[in-house]
Amino acid sequence: MGRIDMDGVTKVFGEGGEEVIAVDHFDLTIEDGEFLVLVGPSGCGKSTTLRTIAGLEEVTEGTISIDGEDITDEKPKDRNIAMVFQNYALYPHMTARENMAFGLKMTTDLSDEEVDSRVRDAAGMMGIEGLLENKPGELSGGQQQRVALGRSIVREPKVFLMDEPLSNLDAKLRTTMRTELQDLQQRLETTAVYVTHDQTEAMTMGDRIAILDEGTLQQVGTPLECYQKPNNVFVAGFIGSPGMNFLDVRNENGRLIHESIEYELSDDTATELQQVSADLILGVRPEDIRVISGTTERNRITVQPKVVEPVGDMTYVHFELGGVDMTATVSGDIHVQVDKELDIVFPEERLHVFDQETKEAIKNSRRELLSMPS
Ligand code: ADP
Ligand code: MG
Repeated sequence: MGRIDMDGVTKVFGEGGEEVIAVDHFDLTIEDGEFLVLVGPSGCGKSTTLRTIAGLEEVTEGTISIDGEDITDEKPKDRNIAMVFQNYALYPHMTARENMAFGLKMTTDLSDEEVDSRVRDAAGMMGIEGLLENKPGELSGGQQQRVALGRSIVREPKVFLMDEPLSNLDAKLRTTMRTELQDLQQRLETTAVYVTHDQTEAMTMGDRIAILDEGTLQQVGTPLECYQKPNNVFVAGFIGSPGMNFLDVRNENGRLIHESIEYELSDDTATELQQVSADLILGVRPEDIRVISGTTERNRITVQPKVVEPVGDMTYVHFELGGVDMTATVSGDIHVQVDKELDIVFPEERLHVFDQETKEAIKNSRRELLSMPS
C-alpha cells in the first residue's frame, strides 16, 4: 500500500527575505502502485516536491498523507519511503553487500539472517548477485546504480522516490535502465514517483505524468493524454520531440491570418472558434505536417527548407514561415533538399488552437486510437 495525497503543498524558500516559491499549491493524488513521473524544466520545483514527500524539506503550507494518514510533520525515517538520487552516494569503503545491508542494520532490528536474505533477494532482482563482494570503485556506473537501487529495495518501502536517477549514465545504458526500472517497479508493486527533466523519459516510463512549470502543476494525465490534449501552450511545447510549432494568428471570419499565410477553416471549425477571442495561437506538431504534391489541396503552404536533417526513417525539415522557425518531420523516403520548394499542409484535424492571452488550449487535435483487430 502506498497512496499519496498531496493537498495544497507549497514550499517557499527564504521566507522574510528574498522569497522563492519553489512549489505553489501542489494538489495531486498518486495511486497505490502507480508509476508517476514528475517532469519539467530545470528549476521548476521537481526536486523540492519530491523532497517534501520524503520529509527532507518542511512544507510551508499544505498537507501530505500516505494511505490516508497525515505525515506532513513526520520525520523522514518514520515515513517508510526510499529515495534514490542521481549520484548514488554509496559508501566507497564498503562492499556492495555492506552498502545494501547498512541501512537495514542501522534502522531496523532485523536479525542478521533476515538482513542477509533481503540483500540476496534484492541483489537477485537487480542482477548483481555476482558483485556483492565488490566495492563501488570496482563497479561501472550502471552497476553502482543497481546497488543503490538494491539498497532502497531491501527496505521494502511503501513509496519509492527517484530524483533523476539515470542522468549520470550514458545514453544506451539509460535506455536499458529505464526498462529495468519499470519492470522492477511492477514486480515490487510499490508506488513510485520519478523525477526527470527529460520528456522522452517521462513519456516512456510514466503510468501518468505530472508536468510542472515554475512551481505550478500544469497538467496531469497519461503520456498520450498530455501529448494529444495539452491544456496549454507550455505543455504543448514541452511534450513531444521536436517540439510543437506555434504561430500567432488572427481569426477573421474563419480565416486564420498570419503575415505569411491565410488558413481557411472548415465551416464547423469556424463556427467552433467564432465565440472565442480573435487573437489565437495556432499549434501544429512537426509529425502532423504533411508533404503534398499537386496544387489543388486547400491551405497549401510552400516553404523553402533551410536545414534538412535525415535521421533514417524520418527527416527533420527546418523552415521559416513569416519569420517564425518551424520544423516538419517527414518520411525518410521523401527526398527533401535545402532551398528547393516544398509543399506542405497543416491538416485541420491535427491543429491545436490556444488563446494568445491566457495561453490555454481552446481546441486540440482530433485523433482516434485505432483498435487492433481481435
Ligand atoms: P528542479 O529539481 O525542478 O530543478 P528545484 O526543486 O531544485 O528544481 O528548485 C526549485 C526552485 O527552488 C529553484 O528556483 C531553486 O533555485 C529554488 N531552491 C531549491 N532549493 C533551495 C534552497 N535550499 N534554498 C533556496 N532556494 C532553493
Ligand atoms: Mg532537481
